[in-house]
Amino acid sequence: MEKILVADDELYILDVCRRILGKKYDVTVVHSGLEAIQVAEEKHFDLLLTDIKMPGIDGLETAQEVKKIQPDIMCITMTGFSTMETAIKALRLGIDEFVIKPFAPEELTMAIDRAFEKERLRQENIRLKSLLPLFEFNKMLMTTTDTDTLLKKVSGLSISEVGADSVALYLVQPSGDFILHHHQFMTPNQLAIIEERGLEIAVRARDIPLYAEASTSDEPNVRRILHDLGVSSAMSAPIAGQSKLHGVLVLFKNNGGFSLSQQNFVGVMTGQVAAAYENARLFQDLQLAYDQLKSLDHLKSEFINVAAHELRTPLAILMGYASVASEEANPALREYMDAIVRNAGRLQRLIDDLLNMRNIESGEIQLEYRPIKLGPLIQRTIDDMAMLARKKNIRLTLDIPADIPSFFADPQRLELVLTNLLSNAIKFTPEAGDIRVSAGVNGQTVRISVEDTGIGIPQSEFSRIFDRFYQVESSLNRHHEGIGLGLSIVKGIVERCGGKIWVERSDVGKGTVFSFTMPLLSQPPEA
Ligand code: ADP
Repeated sequence: MEKILVADDELYILDVCRRILGKKYDVTVVHSGLEAIQVAEEKHFDLLLTDIKMPGIDGLETAQEVKKIQPDIMCITMTGFSTMETAIKALRLGIDEFVIKPFAPEELTMAIDRAFEKERLRQENIRLKSLLPLFEFNKMLMTTTDTDTLLKKVSGLSISEVGADSVALYLVQPSGDFILHHHQFMTPNQLAIIEERGLEIAVRARDIPLYAEASTSDEPNVRRILHDLGVSSAMSAPIAGQSKLHGVLVLFKNNGGFSLSQQNFVGVMTGQVAAAYENARLFQDLQLAYDQLKSLDHLKSEFINVAAHELRTPLAILMGYASVASEEANPALREYMDAIVRNAGRLQRLIDDLLNMRNIESGEIQLEYRPIKLGPLIQRTIDDMAMLARKKNIRLTLDIPADIPSFFADPQRLELVLTNLLSNAIKFTPEAGDIRVSAGVNGQTVRISVEDTGIGIPQSEFSRIFDRFYQVESSLNRHHEGIGLGLSIVKGIVERCGGKIWVERSDVGKGTVFSFTMPLLSQPPEA
């Protein structure tokens, strides 16, 4: 309930005011200006209603004195005769409203309501004004990912917007200990005190904000620290996230105290900082994890590179000698030697896959563009695979229009793509199946498809089969060789060449069609 102080030397007026206002407000009446000033020194009032003409101190002077004690109080004067002169004087003195005597009860209540409404609007205005720097601050918070910068900006805003003369900001360590993160505008003497005893103030604000004035604080310890620091007031606000206290902001003023709206401002500001601080910490952690992953990835890439190259040489020697030995061996031994050559070949393909994958991932793959004729290139690849197909009695056919123009592409990489798709088609097609390679031009791209009558791929797996090491059959019941790298290498190369690859269609038990595109380049692209 708002508190109203009424001053008038006429008892009758005091009685009327009490009756009219008493229902809605907490009313105190006094008989003179002097009494009004004395009461205002002891109790806080929201509004002073005073007669202008009073013996001793008059109403305008009373209002002036009371305002000195309570700057936010509203003042309404009552007067029997109102001249322009008194009206102007009253306005100059910050009087909010007039009531002319004699007044009807509604006139009085209306004047009081108007004054309170004015005050409400004034407060609202202050609140809105204080939102602007908060809004700007918020924008800055959203874009700051460095925690140190963020915390220092909080201190800066405390000084520019809240009028703090000095600032100390404490952070809470994982151990729960508080450490002084930074301070601003402290004299060496103040800093020495803060370093020794500042924690006392910070720790008190771990749960709720603390506000203390050197002259009125009822905590002797706090009062003593403020006194030694030579400041008149302090406020500490926790910087608390969802479930954790991150730090405490401590502000000092050398003269006067922090108004309620300044305290509210600090409360909102530290709340926002806490959220931004958590985001920034998360961002930093993520960045760290990302950097670690990157260096691990680099290590892995280097390991594959070195290991693959080191394996290649002994493998080549092994294959060479085994081939020669196989030719010279007797039939029984030849069978064994051939098995060695075959499996060494498998190893060789695995190593090639690993190296290709590594080169695609690290971006080290260099394309060598040459003018190519698609028909002969595909025919060559089919011829290379013919033996494999024949072993399973699979028919390999090519259906490609004769008028596809020559274009620029990397022939080796294109052959690698086709070889992978064809070897999958052969691998996943049962005995006596059919595989057909077709091509067609559409605008500036050529589309090449490999169609088989194999086991098919469930639709739910269409996108995942292009992932590294992904295989539809689980490793435990695999019937086919491979490590699940072929399609991801194919995708990497096709995309690097500026094309796309996808499963055109597939029916389990019936067959699959893979298609990919290549741009019909009339000249090599610029590096
Ligand atoms: P892998 O070396 O295991 O063949 P790929 O990356 O080439 O690895 O293929 C991934 C998986 O996609 C294969 O293990 C297989 O399950 C499926 N797949 C690829 N091509 C075909 C196809 N033509 N028919 C049926 N399944 C296929």
